Formats: sequence, C-alpha cells, structure tokens
Amino acid sequence: MCTGRGVPSNTELFRRSTDVIPGGVNSSIRAFRAVGGEPYVVARAEGPYVWDVEGRRYIDLVQSYGAVILGHAHPAITAAITAAAVDGTSYGAPTPREMKLATTISERVSSCEQVRLMNSGTEATSTAVRLARGFTGRDRVVIFHGNFHGATDALLAAGGSGVATLGLPGTAGVPSGAVAETMVVPYNQVPTLDESVAAVIVEPIAANMGVVAPAAGFLDGLRAECDRVGALLVFDEVITGFRVDTGGAQAKYDVTPDLTTFGKVIGGGLPIGAVGGRREVMQTLSPLGPVFHAGTLAGNPIATAAGLAALGELTPDVYMELLARSHRLAALLRDACAAAGFPARFPVVGTLVGIVCGDGPDPVDFESAKRTDEAAYGAFFRAMLAEGVALAPGAYEAVFVGLGHTDEVLADIAAAAERAAHRAVTELA
Ligand SMILES: *Cc1c(COP(=O)(O)O)cnc(C)c1O
Repeated sequence: MCTGRGVPSNTELFRRSTDVIPGGVNSSIRAFRAVGGEPYVVARAEGPYVWDVEGRRYIDLVQSYGAVILGHAHPAITAAITAAAVDGTSYGAPTPREMKLATTISERVSSCEQVRLMNSGTEATSTAVRLARGFTGRDRVVIFHGNFHGATDALLAAGGSGVATLGLPGTAGVPSGAVAETMVVPYNQVPTLDESVAAVIVEPIAANMGVVAPAAGFLDGLRAECDRVGALLVFDEVITGFRVDTGGAQAKYDVTPDLTTFGKVIGGGLPIGAVGGRREVMQTLSPLGPVFHAGTLAGNPIATAAGLAALGELTPDVYMELLARSHRLAALLRDACAAAGFPARFPVVGTLVGIVCGDGPDPVDFESAKRTDEAAYGAFFRAMLAEGVALAPGAYEAVFVGLGHTDEVLADIAAAAERAAHRAVTELA
C-alpha cells in the first residue's frame, strides 16, 4: 500500500487515521460514506488544485466548503498569516486587527451595526440563538427543513414531511429538551408565528440541500411576519456572506435581518465565526448585557489577519467575475451531462452552483431536494474524481467556484466532465 517513494498511500494513511480518529475524519461528510470509496488524503493545495499524499492533482471544487474563495494558498492570505504569526498567535486581550475585521464586516453589511467575533459558524449560530432568546425573553426558535446551521443542539432538530414539527431531535445525543422549543417548518413558505417566537433562523439562499433559491416574497414575508409578532429575523450567512455579494444575500434580496451569522469566507480559510446585527440587540451580549458569550481564541490574531486579507481582495468586480464563472461552470457541466445522456441539472443562485441528479424541476424545499438521485450523484462524483476533479462527497453540497477557477481551469473541468458523464452513464446502466 505504499506509493513506491516510501510515502504512505491514501488508503494506508486513511486506514491508520480510522484507528485514532473516529471514522478517520474530523467532519463526518469527509469520510465519503454518501458517495462510496475512500477519501483522498490531502498533502497540499494551491489555487484551484489540491494534491493528495500520492502526488495526484485534483481540480478542487470543494474549496473547504466555501471558506477558501480566493483559491488555495493565495499569496495575500499567506503573507498576512506569516506576518501576523511572528507577532504571536493569541493573547487573551483586544487587538487592532479584530477591530478592523469587525469594522469591515459592519461597513459592507449594513444590518451589522455591531459584530462579535468567534471561532466557527456553529458557535455563531448557537450564540445567535442565545442572544435572540435573551433579547426577547422568549424561548421558541423556528428553523427550516433542509437548512443547516452547524452542530449546535438547539438547531439539530428533525423536520417532518412538508409539515411543521416541534421538538424532535435530529441526531442521537440531543435530548428532547434541547429541541423542545425548536420548530421545523418547510422552506420557502412563510410560517404563521405567535408571540412565543424569539427568532426565525434561515439560510437566505439554502446551500445545504443542494442550492435552493428563496422564492419571491419568502424573505420579505419572513421579515413582515417577524415584525408582526416581535420576533428577531436571523440570516445564517455562514455560506452566503461575502460569497454572493459584497453585502451578502441580504443585499442581493434587499431584506434586512436583525442578526446575521458569518463564518467560512470571513476567516480566509482559518477557523472563524461572527454574529452581527442591530446595535440594540448586540448590546444584550456580555459584558454590556445579560447574555453570556466568551471564547479563549475569539478574535484570533491569525484568523483575523487571514480574514482581512480575504475581504481586502473581494472588491465588487470580483463578485461580477465569480458570478460569470459560476454560470460558465454550470453551463459546461450541463452540456457535458446532456451530451452523455446523464440526467442532471445545475441551478445557479448568485455565485453558488448546485447539482441535482435525475429529471424534474429545480428543488424549492427539502421535500423536492430529496428527489435528487443520490446513487447517480455518487457515480458522477466517483467518475469526476477519477478524471481529476474533486466535488463535495455528498449529493446535497454546493459547488464552490473561486478566483482560482480561471477559464483554462474551467476548460479542463469541461473535458473531464464529458468523460465522467459517459463513465457514470456506463456505470449506472
Ligand atoms: C458551514 C455552515 C455552518 C457551520 O459553520 P462551521 O464553521 O462549520 O461550524 C452554519 N451554517 C451554515 C449555513 C453553514 O453552511
């Protein structure tokens, strides 16, 4: 199982990992359970490419699930990290850089009058829930079936088939008490709320059940319904923030939430999260208000340096370019699959591209998203990987286009996709 150069193979390393790390991974989707096969073990990455430990190169459309929007090892990020690291890696005291990152977020996302930095998207959503409950003095939170808000107990609730459900744990280990006040309702339908609701938490573009656009009037309708009962509207922009537009999905759709959660892009590929929002609500956080929040590494000097470098590169024309590339990528994948007779659709919402295998209309909610042919996705995924293109190892993930995906790289993806679609058709026949 060695590669001949004394370097352990992907298989050998992964199997060794499974001995010491549960499932061999630190985030469950990476284990390839949804698509079959074993993961490539990454040695390094640059621009649009990752190389595995055997020296094999892949065009990477995972891009750390969207965290790496400039492409891997972008010189601006690497320089910022290097410069920051020599000044120390964490202090447990305020720094100028965290102030600058909070200011940059606040300047670009007008609903964020104040911003609190933390270490992950999960921490951001769990803090937003606590903050909304503390601010309103109410307990109930409303979330949408098929939206994902990280690994936080209150938001890991199971949804029902097209109906509202309350208090069903979405995974083992979540006590029913933790989700007793969590209501799960269908995406793209405005629920009728009452005055027990602290917050409605929504992905303004759903990007964890494939890529699903908000229906006309959905986000506006949520805003109006929240206002009617005095609930807070929370946009989870951990994926969409600084990816679909300078001002996020809220700028694209012109709807103003009370609170917004961020992660991914704002850390330039390092661990980060943030909650931003109306000053009055944000000032309910400790030490000003009664809602506790703390973090040993929160506002980390290296993560904020990387985040500032990333946001520094993300000028408005970059979003125009990313949008054009997203449409080009979707079109070339569509053409390749059509030519091979492999039924698949590639919805584009902003700069996010989805993959839906099988026939039928584009999904509008989790019920329709689930109709994607997961076996067909697995076949396409494996065929693309064999052709040197890495998609996310799950049928419900987005395809992440970044600044590394130049026209030349897109042409290589097109050629690989044509061969892969044929291969998948043969495998499924
Ligand atoms: C990734 C993601 C999260 C969780 O962020 P982590 O940094 O992985 O904890 C939360 N919400 C959405 C919409 C996400 O895509």
